[in-house]
Amino acid sequence: MNATERLYEEDSYLKDCTAEVVASEVGLFRVNRTVLYAEGGGQPGDSGAVTLPDGQELAIVKSVKQPGNPNAVLHYLQDADTVLEVGSQVKLAVDWARRHRLMRMHSALHLLCAQVSAGVTGGSVGDGKGRIDFNIGADGLDKERINDGLNELVSRDLEVAARWITADELDENPDLVRTMEVQPPRSGGKVRLIEVQSADLQPCGGTHVKRTSEIGALVVGKIENKGKQNRRVNIRFAD
Ligand SMILES: [Zn+2]
Repeated sequence: MNATERLYEEDSYLKDCTAEVVASEVGLFRVNRTVLYAEGGGQPGDSGAVTLPDGQELAIVKSVKQPGNPNAVLHYLQDADTVLEVGSQVKLAVDWARRHRLMRMHSALHLLCAQVSAGVTGGSVGDGKGRIDFNIGADGLDKERINDGLNELVSRDLEVAARWITADELDENPDLVRTMEVQPPRSGGKVRLIEVQSADLQPCGGTHVKRTSEIGALVVGKIENKGKQNRRVNIRFAD
């Protein structure tokens, strides 16, 4: 078993799960299934905790895809000297307060994509803030219009849902991909799409809220000039 079942891809609201340790070395381990998101697609990996069979709880400081094996997730322990026992049954819990803020911001960035008709050259989901770089010149962006448009999509309480298509279906619909240089991951010939009802549809492996109202009010911050044909739009939560 070289893959980790990524429960968050089907249900981003799962806060904990039981799992079996399948590989372990000093300071990090891999399990057969997890609720902790592995860093990728601009979204940071989750922190949280693992509870051992004897009840001891250890902090997990980050979660990443295993180098060379993107279907496997590695969890890093805060106590870098600990080695978990392979075969042991553990409980994993995500730092939900942080993850929920990251989910809200990731969904907010998809709403931002819906406001700007231009390719995406970069992006980052932060804690309470986020940004996207667009392939667009000086005259393409109206800050006030983007601000109003984002908050209108939030207040319309639109559904946000994930679904899977085949890699062939994606190849037949190349316009779905908003990122210009990065192609979405094709795990087992499948590509995950995130659809914001009537507003946005694009490949994405990240975790999202169920409805746009859950994001809350947004503020467009600085629009930075990152080159002749590149503008960075920063957003943050209003509260
Ligand atoms: Zn995304």
